[in-house]
Amino acid sequence: MPKAVLFDMDGVLYDSMPFHARAWKEIANRYHLISSLEDFYLLEGRTGESTINLLFQRTFQRDATEQEKQTIYQEKADLFNQYNSGTVMQGALDVLNAVKASHLQTLIVTGSGQHSLFDKVKHDFPGYFEREKMVTAYDVTHGKPHPEPYLMGLEKAGVEAHEAIVVENAPLGVQAAVAAGIFTIAVNTGPLPDQLLLDAGASLLFHDMATLASQWQSIVNQ
Ligand code: MG
Repeated sequence: MPKAVLFDMDGVLYDSMPFHARAWKEIANRYHLISSLEDFYLLEGRTGESTINLLFQRTFQRDATEQEKQTIYQEKADLFNQYNSGTVMQGALDVLNAVKASHLQTLIVTGSGQHSLFDKVKHDFPGYFEREKMVTAYDVTHGKPHPEPYLMGLEKAGVEAHEAIVVENAPLGVQAAVAAGIFTIAVNTGPLPDQLLLDAGASLLFHDMATLASQWQSIVNQ
């Protein structure tokens, strides 16, 4: 029986990916960095710095300087905050309800790093998450697809990899969870093909959180 469920945040608990992608694309254009809107769904899960560096390598064949990384990331964060509607993903509360009904711990493992994040989570998902059981950009050295964020999630939950389930929407997030040895459910809430999430190692795939909620009991009973 599983004991804990580790939830990714953007694209899983919040319908925020369109705003992240839009903010990233505008910033990339501002700095003449070669990119497509889809790139930012493919790169989801990486740290901001590593995303910026990758675009610099692609465009200018060099690393971004520390100053460039800081400035560009701040501008991206400002734009995201301007666009973000803060909408909770449809069906997310149903999934959390179903998970709670099966008496499992609920944690968040996100590459996001906004200081106000936990207050928002506490407000939107009351009673489901504790601050000390949340892994954010501030807690880790490596972003996804490195397993570190999910390994830290296991540690915070106090469970082994085989006692956990991950819910992820991004290919790199699925890779990170699978690299940490965790059974991973993909919820494809974005524009990428399902096959990318399956190739990344997802064991199950749903197209929305509401369907995952309706199937939850049968998943944990298997
Ligand atoms: Mg995500």
